[in-house]
Amino acid sequence: ETVVNRIAAGEVIQRPANAIKEMIENSLDAGSTSITVAIKSGGLKMIQISDNGHGIRKEDLEIVCERFTTSKLKEFTDLRSITTFGFRGEALASISHVAHLSISSKTQGSQCGYKASYVDGKLKDQPRPTASNDGTQITVEDLFYNVLTRRKAFRSASEEHQRIADVITRYAIHNSGKSFTLRKSDNDTSSGVTVRTQLGASALDNIRALFGSNIANEIIHVEHENETLHLRIKGYISNANCSMKKFNFLLFINNRLVECTSLKRALDAVYQSYLPKGGRPFVYLSLEMPATNLDVNVHPTKHEVHFLHEEAVIEEVQTAIENKLLSCDS
Ligand code: ADP
Ligand code: MG
Repeated sequence: ETVVNRIAAGEVIQRPANAIKEMIENSLDAGSTSITVAIKSGGLKMIQISDNGHGIRKEDLEIVCERFTTSKLKEFTDLRSITTFGFRGEALASISHVAHLSISSKTQGSQCGYKASYVDGKLKDQPRPTASNDGTQITVEDLFYNVLTRRKAFRSASEEHQRIADVITRYAIHNSGKSFTLRKSDNDTSSGVTVRTQLGASALDNIRALFGSNIANEIIHVEHENETLHLRIKGYISNANCSMKKFNFLLFINNRLVECTSLKRALDAVYQSYLPKGGRPFVYLSLEMPATNLDVNVHPTKHEVHFLHEEAVIEEVQTAIENKLLSCDS
């Protein structure tokens, strides 16, 4: 059974950046305004994420790593209208099957925090009192220590570090106003960038800080709504003067970081006729649509999404962006 669980867990958590994405979403679900991630060797040796969210109660610490344990699904009918990010209670369970996991957490108003560690979905050490601030700190060590083939698949710590930096950069921009930090743990000698955004910073501040001050003057705000499609589009996109080296496309649908190749292609095509040869755009978009229009059967780790009325939605986004580019062209 353990081996089966381990294989299943490896499907959910494929690399350090995946695990971090899941944990950031949990921190955001818990209402955190400050999230700090420290990593060692691109997260392969250690990931430690600390937040200032509502915390986990002692009795819940005992069960959080059991599969399908979630505090976000009150009734089964919620499945169709869920608005929080995760809803299946699989992330922590999966991590506990492929890494050494410990959680320390303190809820507001409780005397002290509690710390527990886990193995294969179960408590390894009972929660014991610990001094801590309000919020949660999760430590993941030796990811895939028990899945040799998976561990061997990672070419370099710096590549994993970059993937993590990308994920955190994207969440930091989408959640501007909250503070995000990515740093290497104190005794880590591997190379990799630091990411940092400040409490209260605007999306534009963060784009400037994370994508270079030179593009900030070329960024325009988009906001558009289509009632028939039940679609809201918001974001920041580069104008016709921006020439980044590659197409930086940051896409959130209902606050979840996703990929959508068909939309990316469509936007690439729009920019083709505006940008000078070799120039590439920056596009950050947040789409909101009824949860029931999203394909809920797509596994959450398959970040590629599909949704109802996909062609119409893509055309609408395309048009909104083209109009924006046209109006800024002069
Ligand atoms: P899900 O997010 O789908 O509920 P997870 O395995 O990601 O499942 O998390 C399990 C549960 O652990 C969550 O429902 C939540 O109650 C709790 N939890 C996890 N991380 C945090 C956190 N950072 N702050 C507060 N609660 C958390
Ligand atoms: Mg989750």
